Amino acid sequence: MQGKIPAVNEVRSLSSTKARLHTLAGQLSPGRAQAFLVALLNHRIGNVAAARLFIRRFPEFCPEGGFPLAVREDIENAWRQPTAFDRDAALLEPIASALHFYGIAVDRQEAGAEAWAYLAAVIWYATKISDRMRVCANPDCRARYFVASKRIQKYCSKACAAPAQRALKRTWWKEHGPKWRAKWRAEHKPKPKVKRTARKGQRKRKEGK
Ligand SMILES: [Zn+2]
Repeated sequence: MQGKIPAVNEVRSLSSTKARLHTLAGQLSPGRAQAFLVALLNHRIGNVAAARLFIRRFPEFCPEGGFPLAVREDIENAWRQPTAFDRDAALLEPIASALHFYGIAVDRQEAGAEAWAYLAAVIWYATKISDRMRVCANPDCRARYFVASKRIQKYCSKACAAPAQRALKRTWWKEHGPKWRAKWRAEHKPKPKVKRTARKGQRKRKEGK
């Protein structure tokens, strides 16, 4: 991935920081942006081995090869806001911060400058999916942050939805079970005469065999 990214000294050959930003943002695919956001938020802080793997998987988003911890906190805070508007509003600050650090890094000709541009681009991308940012409603979920494919979606997967569905069924049966069973029995009451004759007939056929 890093091979694709132009070297920092090429920044000087572009007319402005803005043009450079545009080029970098254009290289970021929605799939990669989403994968990064979800992996970043579901990363367990303190797990050094996982952090190393993360950096290897997403090197273009890691300024100076470090885990983007501060950015994670900002995005997590935004993701947990109650409405899409609140989430967008909360994302504006980290976008501005990433752009600010990008500007400084470019001025200092730091090697990790472009990572800040990628971070700004990926947080800007997050505003495009802010209406579908979810935290899985299953408290036992190991990767709770996800992007819903439908707006009503509450769980990240069928596996996470299953316990709640089972509990819902149990509650329903407790409340409505007896009534439902009585109704079912009434509707399925056997027609005694017809059944008895049929049974007799069957018995006769069996005896005849
Ligand atoms: Zn889940």
